Amino acid sequence: MDFSGKIRFAPSPTGYLHEGHLLSALYVWAAARKWNLHIHLRIEDHDRGRTREAYIQGIREDLAWMGFIPHSESIQSERQDIYRAVMERLDAAGLTYPCTCSRKQLEAENPRSETGEIIYQGKCQALDIHQASALPHNTRFKVTDKLINWQDYRLGAFSENPARQCGDFPLMDREGCYTYQLCVCTDDLEQGITHIVRGEDIINSTARQIALSETLCQVASGIGHIPREHVRPLYLHHPLIVDPSGKKLSKRELAHSIRQDKEAGYRPEELLGRVLFKAGFIPKQDSIALEDAIGRIVNTL
Ligand code: GLU
Ligand code: ZN
Repeated sequence: MDFSGKIRFAPSPTGYLHEGHLLSALYVWAAARKWNLHIHLRIEDHDRGRTREAYIQGIREDLAWMGFIPHSESIQSERQDIYRAVMERLDAAGLTYPCTCSRKQLEAENPRSETGEIIYQGKCQALDIHQASALPHNTRFKVTDKLINWQDYRLGAFSENPARQCGDFPLMDREGCYTYQLCVCTDDLEQGITHIVRGEDIINSTARQIALSETLCQVASGIGHIPREHVRPLYLHHPLIVDPSGKKLSKRELAHSIRQDKEAGYRPEELLGRVLFKAGFIPKQDSIALEDAIGRIVNTL
């Protein structure tokens, strides 16, 4: 089969899949149906401290049990050489620096954006690089102070400046793990992702990912399949499941897993019905087959 592009479903194996993941998967599979896309499962185990092997296996099994069958799969822990090569290019281009600030210092010394994020003011850029590298440190990307104009397929136009949202952001953490931002930008470029469909909770990352991706094309093209020109993917940030009072789901509600429901004897159709009901797609909590559930969402795209 010939596809017109490639989309990814990118869960982090820091827990078992829950209802939020199911809604995301439904959107990804719906987008794939609408635009005829290859579906890539990308297991985002970049944070080694929070990853568990059981969750990785659990994600594969629970997706298969629900009927979500991707066309290909990758896992970030097996792509360390690519991230290292990308990081070396960024370092060589003078676009990174070590930051020795502790969490406490970051909180005390920097302002916060409207969304509550710390806007790092670049303190460690002035440190002696050799001295700083000898101390515990993360490695930050120097962002350019400029507006990024981008379009969300569902939510319309955004005009955001990463320098005012977060400032220079980490590409490698203190433990030596490549961060979400570095891995996701590298992978989306290297794997030829044309459509990014994910929850609204990550929308703030989009402008900085566009900035980093453009830079990667300039300095890291030729590593794997990283291209010379950045062709922006289509972005679609989907709504999240909220509780009946309109608030985001609590940690406890999110900890309730597909696996627990499976063990309690629920069928996939029942879980899909519950998720679609909670997300406001159907008026009653009826069972619904996967094909129909995907179809419901396709109709809203
Ligand atoms: N791994 C991220 C998460 O589970 C999603 C990353 C993305 O879609 O960009 O929240
Ligand atoms: Zn610092």
